[in-house]
Amino acid sequence: MTNSVLTSAVPVETLTAPVPFIDLVAQQGEILDEISTAIVDTLRRATFIGGKHVDAFEAEFAAYCAVTHCIGVGNGTDALELALRALDIVDGREVLVPVNSFIASAEAVLRAGATVRFSDVDDDSLLLDRATVERAITDETAAVMAVHLYGQTAPVDQILPVAGRHGAVVIEDAAQSQGATRYGRPAGSLSRIAGTSFYPGKNLGAAGDGGAVLTSDDDLAARVRRIASHGSTEKYVHDEFGFNSRLDSIQAIVLRSKLARLDAWNEARRVAARRYDELLADVDGVRTPVTLAGNVHNWHIYSVRVENRDRILAGLHAEGIGAALHYPTPIHLTGAFRHLGLARGDFPVAERAAAQLLSLPMFPHLTEAQQIRVVDVLKRLV
Ligand SMILES: *Cc1c(COP(=O)(O)O)cnc(C)c1O
Repeated sequence: MTNSVLTSAVPVETLTAPVPFIDLVAQQGEILDEISTAIVDTLRRATFIGGKHVDAFEAEFAAYCAVTHCIGVGNGTDALELALRALDIVDGREVLVPVNSFIASAEAVLRAGATVRFSDVDDDSLLLDRATVERAITDETAAVMAVHLYGQTAPVDQILPVAGRHGAVVIEDAAQSQGATRYGRPAGSLSRIAGTSFYPGKNLGAAGDGGAVLTSDDDLAARVRRIASHGSTEKYVHDEFGFNSRLDSIQAIVLRSKLARLDAWNEARRVAARRYDELLADVDGVRTPVTLAGNVHNWHIYSVRVENRDRILAGLHAEGIGAALHYPTPIHLTGAFRHLGLARGDFPVAERAAAQLLSLPMFPHLTEAQQIRVVDVLKRLV
């Protein structure tokens, strides 16, 4: 550690105050004045679906992600399903998905009618990498879903050649990676197509559900728009099977306002992550998260690894500290994927991590005093 990011003495009054896992109220407070007029105007004009705010947000977020097209949709799971459907990855075609992810990464595959083939993850990053993909991919694999979990990108540049050799495309699950980059390129621009989520707790969150598909491929973009609009480009002409998934005006207003602050908020998370790294540097029994070379992390989640995790989690909760788990059950062991017949022992790295991972409070407005409190309690418990 070169320059310390720790600055202040701990104010006495914060020594026992609860620390939430995430504080969305503080974020809302920053944007409330700015969005109020536009939201009331939208309500007055009754322009709820589509319109200028959605168009503007799509253009702004596409530019932010360095892609040509951003298609606003109903949520992140739809975004991934739409990306798969636009690529014709349906009808039982095989998609490689890491078992260490939120279940939506795999749900989207089943919803598209494709089949899931699971993969273990790299022990340091807990993401897919070249080695894990090489081990799991088959000649049947049509796509690899590179999940940018916790806020750093999977090494897509290393996965692409392996996928290419097997005739598979790479899709990014960029739900947790808004503002993250790899060798300077934004998450969502590293492969042909990506899906992202604006669930309120994501780094770029709406005031409800929302999501987007990102791509620089004109044909894929047009296909996504058509499928997300009942398979139609012209009213009542339905050239293919689709469904309804759209981003509404009020969400677009909120997202534009938050997008303007995303870099500053992510930078605040980076400072907080460095503080945790520093505070935990010499704590035995706590493994801090690793950032891959070339990556700029957005610290959606700061997850450490500890033994006796459940006891420590309960101890933190008893002290009012909102620690959380991402994720307690690897996807292959969930009831939803029982039909694949997989068992404990099939993906040992992810299974071991799932028993050890402990996500500490992380949000842009987290203070140094709050972090010192979290680490003090954690130290006593390990
Ligand atoms: C949140 C999330 C999704 C799904 O997004 P929704 O908007 O909740 O549907 C998909 N993948 C990952 C990794 C997520 O964190």
